[in-house]
Amino acid sequence: MSETEGYDLVVIGSGPGGYVAAIRAAQLGLKTACVEKRETLGGTCLNIGCIPSKALLFSSERFHEAGHGLARHGIKVAGVELDLPAMMAQKDSVVTANTSGVAYLFKKHKIDWIKGTARIAAPGLVEVALKQGGQQQVKTRHILIATGSESTPLPGIAIDEQRIISSTGGLSLPSVPKHLVVIGGGYIGLELGSVWRRLGSEVTVVEFLDRILPGMDGEVSKVMERLLRKQGIAFKLGTKVTAAVPSEAGVTLTLEPAKGGASETLAVDVVLVAVGRRPHVEGLGLEAVGVALDERGRVKTDGHYATNIPGIHAIGDAIAGPMLAHKAEDEGIALAEILAGQAGHVNYDAIPGVVYTWPEAASVGQTEEQLKEANIAYKVGKFPFSANGRARAMAMTDGFVKILADQATDRILGAHVVGPEAGDLIAELVLGMEFSAAAEDIARTCHAHPTLNEAIKEAALAVDGRAIHI
Ligand SMILES: Cc1cc2nc3c(=O)[nH]c(=O)nc-3n(C[C@H](O)[C@H](O)[C@H](O)COP(=O)(O)OP(=O)(O)OC[C@H]3O[C@@H](n4cnc5c(N)ncnc54)[C@H](O)[C@@H]3O)c2cc1C
Repeated sequence: MSETEGYDLVVIGSGPGGYVAAIRAAQLGLKTACVEKRETLGGTCLNIGCIPSKALLFSSERFHEAGHGLARHGIKVAGVELDLPAMMAQKDSVVTANTSGVAYLFKKHKIDWIKGTARIAAPGLVEVALKQGGQQQVKTRHILIATGSESTPLPGIAIDEQRIISSTGGLSLPSVPKHLVVIGGGYIGLELGSVWRRLGSEVTVVEFLDRILPGMDGEVSKVMERLLRKQGIAFKLGTKVTAAVPSEAGVTLTLEPAKGGASETLAVDVVLVAVGRRPHVEGLGLEAVGVALDERGRVKTDGHYATNIPGIHAIGDAIAGPMLAHKAEDEGIALAEILAGQAGHVNYDAIPGVVYTWPEAASVGQTEEQLKEANIAYKVGKFPFSANGRARAMAMTDGFVKILADQATDRILGAHVVGPEAGDLIAELVLGMEFSAAAEDIARTCHAHPTLNEAIKEAALAVDGRAIHI
């Protein structure tokens, strides 16, 4: 067993939480190492999550557009063909560029990358089973658990990553399945379902609840369901999968109404299980060290990302809060700053969430349902993209912007966008909320014409009943 000299911070896990924390800590002068058990840096996000899924979404969108979306612009394209291996190779090269980019940043900031699987032996002591063989003991003042999450399995349904796949298998299928069933109507299921639908699969989404995108504003869910149905995605809502039996030919699924009732079977080619993610803390030795977990298996932390054991901290998907890369990143920065004696902080009221389907759906702050539940009086300003000049020029008029503002103060409490580039458009409203903007502030801000952002200004004007273009 080799022993390393002491660090200020050892980060376990190099996802967007861990690698960003390591870089910020190094910037602040802390001697930092990061242990990663995967071959490459970047965690779920860069290797099997955000980045490869967005690469496939982008490529499949181009494929669909070339085949179906250009004629109305007066562009005739004949003989559009899918080269799936080339599309996958493009996705893989995007992943490599990103993961090697993190390796470059580690070198630049003199962060030691320890390749292996970490276990916390004691506060201040991390033991690493090295990839190359052998063990290494690493002493450190602080330990950061940034071990992220993994797909939640569905009881009784075994993932083989061939016929019954997780999101990881869904990012690298070798051929386009004839009929793909996605179990779970959350953002991962809808994004991957969209990819394979555009590439030619018949796609059915089975969701236990009676709506897709639970957690998003109800109106967003409804409109997204309608728009995705128009693209040929079928939905079986209020339905549960009770069995999935793989065979040479495919998979036989047994479905039942969620509320109980007669079951039916469905023979399909591939089943993607996307029912959520759970924290990944197994094997870290948390029980032995006494680190407390909450009722959902997440590491319990205080407002400063400290666990109940001094010197052990946690961030990202491994702790409470939305399982999103940018939330993990911001926590990583805040934690590093706190360790360096600064006032690191994350505003959990202004964390955007984006579904990168077509059109995109993006959200920040509270939904109408949440405001009603909390008995908060609010005003609604809405504006459809069908009345936005730029969206018309792009022939992308589906969707709307909706701003929810406090009835008394006009302060923006939530904003929801369905439409082209919604994931980018929401940034203006996130920034507004970060600065406690009133709808009036957005309404009085000059927006370039003609842009999609003008729909945001119009929605802000509509909060007070004075939208111009509708
Ligand atoms: C298909 C898919 C698409 C997604 N798309 C988006 C998106 O568009 N936008 C978004 O915001 N989020 C998206 N997410 C979620 C996002 O990937 C996660 O929220 C984010 O990666 C969490 O970051 P993290 O740093 O907490 O953990 P992770 O990224 O999960 O990284 C944790 C790392 O820790 C390592 N590790 C674990 N245990 C040990 C150990 N004992 N020793 C050493 N290393 C260890 C793991 O190998 C892993 O590399 C997506 C996820 C999936 C699956």
